[in-house]
Amino acid sequence: MPTADDLRRILQRIDGRGYKAYKEIAGCYEGSGWTLFIDHVQGDPFASPSKVRVRIQQSSAGTPAALFHNRTRRVALEDFLARQVGRAIRRGAQGQRGSGKSGLIFIDEGAQEVLERTAVVVTPDWVEARLQVGLPAAGRTVLGRQAETLLLSELPRILEQGLTWRNLPSKTQQEGRELVCCVENQEHIREHLSELGLIAFVADGAVLPRESGASDRPLTEKAVVFRSPESCRITIPVPNPIPHPRPSDGQAPSNSITGMGIRRGVTLIVGGGYHGKSTLLKALERGVYAHIPGDGREYVVTCRDAVKIRAEDGRRVEQVDISPFISDLPYGRPTTAFATDDASGSTSQAANIMEALEIGAKTLLLDEDTSATNFMVRDSRMQALVQKEHEPITPFVDRIRELSDRLGVSTLLVMGGCGDYFESADMILMMRDYLPREATEAAKQIAGAQPNRRVSEAHRPMSRTTARIPISESFDPSRGRRDVKIDVKALDLILFGRDRIDLRAVEQLVDKSQTHAVGHAIHLASERYMDGRTALRQVVENVAELLDREGLDLLDPYYRRGRHPGNYARPRKYEVAAAINRLRTVRMRQTRQETNAKTQGRKE
Ligand code: ADP
Ligand code: MG
Repeated sequence: MPTADDLRRILQRIDGRGYKAYKEIAGCYEGSGWTLFIDHVQGDPFASPSKVRVRIQQSSAGTPAALFHNRTRRVALEDFLARQVGRAIRRGAQGQRGSGKSGLIFIDEGAQEVLERTAVVVTPDWVEARLQVGLPAAGRTVLGRQAETLLLSELPRILEQGLTWRNLPSKTQQEGRELVCCVENQEHIREHLSELGLIAFVADGAVLPRESGASDRPLTEKAVVFRSPESCRITIPVPNPIPHPRPSDGQAPSNSITGMGIRRGVTLIVGGGYHGKSTLLKALERGVYAHIPGDGREYVVTCRDAVKIRAEDGRRVEQVDISPFISDLPYGRPTTAFATDDASGSTSQAANIMEALEIGAKTLLLDEDTSATNFMVRDSRMQALVQKEHEPITPFVDRIRELSDRLGVSTLLVMGGCGDYFESADMILMMRDYLPREATEAAKQIAGAQPNRRVSEAHRPMSRTTARIPISESFDPSRGRRDVKIDVKALDLILFGRDRIDLRAVEQLVDKSQTHAVGHAIHLASERYMDGRTALRQVVENVAELLDREGLDLLDPYYRRGRHPGNYARPRKYEVAAAINRLRTVRMRQTRQETNAKTQGRKE
């Protein structure tokens, strides 16, 4: 194998030449204790930076096997190491040197969530970091010396400081162990929610509010720390001891965690405006993912199959049976196979629910702030004025019990402005001064003393959701001269071929690298699994299984085993399906066949 010295010689030789000369350095080079793989060389200094990987043998790195001996631990450790490499990059940051992206070094580390991602790979034999570097140039002229420093001294130093376990300061190693243990605890709780009859858990001591609307970090000053109402408090054992928040108090670590359990069924969160209702719900939305220690929400755990539902007017809807909520539109438009390029608030919210159920959602999360009012309620006075035959909507309040009792789908609903849901709720939490108390009894008494005069508008029982089969010909990722051109412009925007997928209302997408994965997962799904017979749910479950088996690297449309695949983080099947549903060109047809969900027997 060529050595670091070979690379040095090439760089010296091409110094001062045109940028294309860099193409010569593609390949792999053996350094002392590390291997550098230059997988892709950028075409010019302004193009997206070159993709390189650096690998260290475990004989040098010395990563303790206990930190990656199961999948959860490995994902957490990889996440941790990516953060350490990021730290090392910032510590030695020399910034831009020359034109365009010259001299920049980048690794795709996570933020508050801990997700499976492609940035770092840990195996029993080696650890590898996948980075991007801007090969230095002056104008378009190769700066060979700078490249030499970048690739042969900065990169090795970064790996030395960030990726080599043995070299990490013992305090950092301790942080690493804590992150791994904490994530394993969270996943353990998530695994066991179902058998405890719960859909979510919020630990006492959690910090839910964020720094600001633009920052996902915890609010540090004046945050009111979460405390469960007595009646909802439960204690859940965890596999790894949780360090006491103030070890100096002399308290021993705890083998269990105490907090609020939210039971299956219908849960209402009420309370005055600005008392923290939406903040609690937001934390629960994010609780489908693991969080880093110190986030404040690391022990806010929600079942995997919880989906946030909101209104989203203007979205496209393709052949969705929204008839449980909307029927008899003006001029007899059918709603059993509803399609529109411009949904209204209520029809979009109905479609969002039916699509989530189609993919297997077991819990719906709704907030009055982002719901269509006429979808949520229709009170007795309005029923008297506008007769049912002129109102296509069966409001959510008339389906919420049925969802739970017949379909086994729980709802967690923030509703501070309307008491019509009191009768339907199994539990009512009232937020006051940012803390929950149980108000079920009080609300039921009020409901008894002030009977509701509205009549239910659900005239037909809700049927099973209708499965749809996506038609692969309606997926075209090509643009210009490229067969596959899928760009992620932001967390919530994918350019898929010539189509734009607007994901602003898909609120449980949390990382731009997840969005990147969603874009490429759609392409993978259409190539491999859309055969004109397979229902959408099966398609996205097949993709999930494939990624479980083969890893995220496979998402790269130009995938070659062992190459830098680009930056991906794992999305849920719900977000992949949500993006497919929002593709403006997508065509589907309904099918009577039951979705053959292989995962049905799996634990929630
Ligand atoms: P609601 O939905 O009840 O109207 P929000 O959840 O939007 O209220 O919260 C209102 C404000 O209070 C937000 O700025 C939020 O950051 C802040 N807040 C929420 N929970 C807490 C808390 N536990 N401690 C301190 N501030 C909080
Ligand atoms: Mg609110």
